Amino acid sequence: MSSDVYVPHWQASPNFGSRRDGLKPQFVVLHYTAMDSGQAALERLCDPAFEVSAHYLISNTGYLWQMVEESMRAWHAGAGQWRGLEDLNSRSIGIELDNRGMHPFSEPQMRCLEGLLGQIMRRWSIPAENIIGHSCMAPGRKHDPGPRFDWQRLARQGLAQPGGSAHAVRDAEDKNNVRVDDLAAAFRKAACAYGFPADVSDALLLHTVRLRFAPWRTQAQIQGQLEGQLEGQTPPLTYADIALLPSA
Ligand SMILES: [Zn+2]
Repeated sequence: MSSDVYVPHWQASPNFGSRRDGLKPQFVVLHYTAMDSGQAALERLCDPAFEVSAHYLISNTGYLWQMVEESMRAWHAGAGQWRGLEDLNSRSIGIELDNRGMHPFSEPQMRCLEGLLGQIMRRWSIPAENIIGHSCMAPGRKHDPGPRFDWQRLARQGLAQPGGSAHAVRDAEDKNNVRVDDLAAAFRKAACAYGFPADVSDALLLHTVRLRFAPWRTQAQIQGQLEGQLEGQTPPLTYADIALLPSA
């Protein structure tokens, strides 16, 4: 875990309120901005006309802004659910990463994120498994932090839940002679037990789990969509996808 201490630069946003029902932060939701620059994102997140915000924004050079106090409810997560819980804005701290969506996250930006995450997790006693992506809680509606985000790097430092081991994935691939409908049911059961929303199609659930635990498997699909192809190249569901989930 990074021991660097990052002191945020204040740029207050008017877009926040009180956390409902006395809720405290128990999750951290990671985002990308999908904008051309950190400065442009900062302006958007502080503009009352847009009614969006986050607690933090990290530029691609590792510059850290804070816009909303951690004790308050920022407007970053929107509709969705995680582990059956709704109103994630009242339950989380939101961190925006300056990234257009398909390009790499820089080293200074990742180091800043790691330092900040460590501080937040200590302050609010948030465990590694409660660090989630926007795409985890809003399947189909959101793709961030996207296929280029290095979840494994966070997991190695205790800053995110590790996925199933490569060994488990290999073992699982050996079992890949089960019927496909059994496989789909087993995958859905494991994904929803972990916390992913249940009210989505099998294909979308697969995409969403891969974005979190095997993002490299989604790149061709997302690139295809960006290039206007009707369907990207989606590798079919295998037992290895079930093995990616921590509880498998
Ligand atoms: Zn987002």
